[in-house]
Amino acid sequence: MKLSELKNGETAVIVRLSGHGGFRKRIMEMGFIRGEKVKSVLDSPMHDPVKYHVMGYDVLLRRSEAAMIEVLPEEEAKKELTPAPTYTGRSIYDTCSGNNCVSCTLRKVSTHRKNVINVALVGNPNSGKTSIFNALANQNEHVGNYSGVTVDAKCGSFNYKGYRINLTDLPGTYSIAAYTPEEIYVRRHLFEQIPDVIINSVVASNLERNLYLTTELIDMNLRTVVALNMYDELLAQGAELDYEHLGAMMGIPMIPTVAKNSKGLDKLLDTIIELFEGNNKTIRHIHINYGNIIEEQIAPLSAEIHKAEDLPQQFSVRYWALKLLEGDKEVAEELKGCMELPRWQHIAANSAKKIQAQIGVDVETAMSGAKYGFINGALQETYKAGDKDTQRKTRRIDRLVANRWLGFPIFILVMWVMFSSVFLLGAYPQEWIDNLFGWLGEQACNLIPAGAIQDLVVNGIIGGVGSVAVFIPQILILYLFISLMEDSGYMARAAFIMDRLMHKMGLHGKSFIPMLMGFGCNVPAIMATRTIESRSSRIITILVTPFMSCSARLPVMVLFAGAFFPKHAALVLIGLYMLGIGVAILTARLLRFAKFQKDETPFVMELPPYRLPTLRATLRHMWEKCAQYIKKIGTVILLSTVVIWFLSYYPRPKESTEYRVQSTEQREKSKEYREQRTEYREQSKEQREEGGINEESFIAMLGHAIEPVLAPLGQNWRSSIALITSIPAKELVVSTLGVLYSSDSEESIQQDLCSSGDFTPRSAAAFMVFILLFFPCIATIAAIADETGSKRWAAFSIVYNTAVAWLAGFLVYIIGGLF
Ligand code: GDP
Ligand code: MG
Repeated sequence: MKLSELKNGETAVIVRLSGHGGFRKRIMEMGFIRGEKVKSVLDSPMHDPVKYHVMGYDVLLRRSEAAMIEVLPEEEAKKELTPAPTYTGRSIYDTCSGNNCVSCTLRKVSTHRKNVINVALVGNPNSGKTSIFNALANQNEHVGNYSGVTVDAKCGSFNYKGYRINLTDLPGTYSIAAYTPEEIYVRRHLFEQIPDVIINSVVASNLERNLYLTTELIDMNLRTVVALNMYDELLAQGAELDYEHLGAMMGIPMIPTVAKNSKGLDKLLDTIIELFEGNNKTIRHIHINYGNIIEEQIAPLSAEIHKAEDLPQQFSVRYWALKLLEGDKEVAEELKGCMELPRWQHIAANSAKKIQAQIGVDVETAMSGAKYGFINGALQETYKAGDKDTQRKTRRIDRLVANRWLGFPIFILVMWVMFSSVFLLGAYPQEWIDNLFGWLGEQACNLIPAGAIQDLVVNGIIGGVGSVAVFIPQILILYLFISLMEDSGYMARAAFIMDRLMHKMGLHGKSFIPMLMGFGCNVPAIMATRTIESRSSRIITILVTPFMSCSARLPVMVLFAGAFFPKHAALVLIGLYMLGIGVAILTARLLRFAKFQKDETPFVMELPPYRLPTLRATLRHMWEKCAQYIKKIGTVILLSTVVIWFLSYYPRPKESTEYRVQSTEQREKSKEYREQRTEYREQSKEQREEGGINEESFIAMLGHAIEPVLAPLGQNWRSSIALITSIPAKELVVSTLGVLYSSDSEESIQQDLCSSGDFTPRSAAAFMVFILLFFPCIATIAAIADETGSKRWAAFSIVYNTAVAWLAGFLVYIIGGLF
């Protein structure tokens, strides 16, 4: 709890001091040291400041300052001290022999508590933050060789040398200004979560740009350690860096690391502990000199801010002054609790005008110029560029892959190889899984007596789940390709190649990466749009991403393409993907035309050097997706298949009830019974081959109700049901068909589909097109609402996509009729 929350007369132990360096120093000098006891003595009449008793003195603290001190109240500590009866280790009391037991043990508990270090990872995109995170916290977060892979904070914890370290992987940013959503996200994390130590991961082979973010951390005056990551690349260039000297100049310890191989990470952790314990020799607060003209304006503004009683203590006073001068948007939010804010803003605006008049550029430009000047100066003394050209390989590959004429054909070829592999290679393991579920169905048939339960297990659960599970291999292969493209750096090239096309759509080349990711799953794809700075481009990209055929739609496509177009299945598949892209293009143009006329921000994207994907990362990524898919099968799909089974099984048609009554009577005469059962089963199989579904079931009623709407697309009530059930998850189409046609293997569904007469190639094509474009699944709708920040866009997506799906399906059906 915070010291500010401590009630009058209560005592607590100080566990942690947060806030910028200057604040911590001052507060420590007054006796607020970790492990010390502090007592709240007196609230002032205005509730602020509060009088505390610490180290034998009475000290006044403002509430906003007390809020930066974490304490453990005595009462709570005592509760924690009560040894649990089953506890076999040494209780905390064991080691205490003194008379002042309470305060002694209190201190021990607080040591236990205070040895928790909250660490945040910040740095440029693609600088290896997630690699560091994975290596340290032993996690499986996804790494990728292009910007914007991590879009959310990810947390992991581990123990090191008696400390518990909570590590947070933050999205990559080039700075901590408040332009992109990531920057705002990182800034808010630093402001609200107040990490104890920051790891700034920096690409050692590209210091100049990477250290820019470091200079912002210097201004904030936070406890930071720089991880000079990818140090292997720096060495490979033959470059030399006196990183100790550089660290000394910048006042921040610097540790070379190779996160990919977990090198240098122990040293990094040791430094984190040093920083936390306050015994690191390198760290000191330096002021980056912004030049006389700016400094002259900073000084009075800082002095004004310094006087404020209600100033938040997360960042240094100088930082607030700098940000106010820049007219930063976020600072108004951060300082909104300060009474004097309007006055400061007024002063800052005047100062900014003066600066601009004197140096001819706006404050922001002048300051970033000064920052780069500072970095250049520091590097000149410490860095010697290498003579080996490590970029040659990348340039060579790019000459081919990003070639004006060859780039596009190569890209198409890669796509073609990807989809063919999904189809051809996936077929083998698919058959094994198929057989496995077939076998399971048979076993269940033999074990469970005929009736509702047997039907539920065999046709509902095994049939429904099995028909979806067979697509695990295909999904693995798809993700193998996506993962290889991401990790090697080809994905960024694909964005580069597609930029012109995307521009024609009124989008960014950057929009292409989320769209390509959409082939995997629309949800992370929509989250990945956060890298797009321009809001209009972001929203358009979010809205068109659901037209990218996700891996959940793949099973449906594979099933139908295989059944009705066996000779050209891969071609049909590519055609569908292309159609999705085409509709996305049209939609984007439409939105640009109708809603967002102009795009504000320029296209800036980094082309990272090619890197050999590591086997570990690739396998991890594949496994992660596979596990997600399996989880989905075990939850949403399992539940939904049971519901669908129920709806399709009840109410029972007459003769079956008769049969059941009969069967109970005759259960003793088992031989006869068995014969009859076989007979019945054959009967029902025949029925099935005629496409017989329980015509009186609820689901049939539902199907009949929607049929008129979908009839122009050549759909009957059965396919209508399948379309409706795709709403929670697209895979459910296949499992619904599995349940409806009571088949438990893909092959037999295909046979049933063909023989039932429910579909012709023409209506099958319309069906596939409809599924491709129809209502994105519920998770995607939620993601759209989240990322656009408005339910209206989500609703738009539902209505628009459904309308488009209907129209496109209708056209396909009509055109199909011409052949
Ligand atoms: P993030 O965007 O900052 O989270 O970066 P990632 O962790 O996703 O890594 C970006 C790319 O750099 C991946 O392809 C990693 O395999 C690669 N990488 C990470 N650390 C190192 C390193 O120390 N050396 C080299 N050569 N590559 C690395
Ligand atoms: Mg990352």
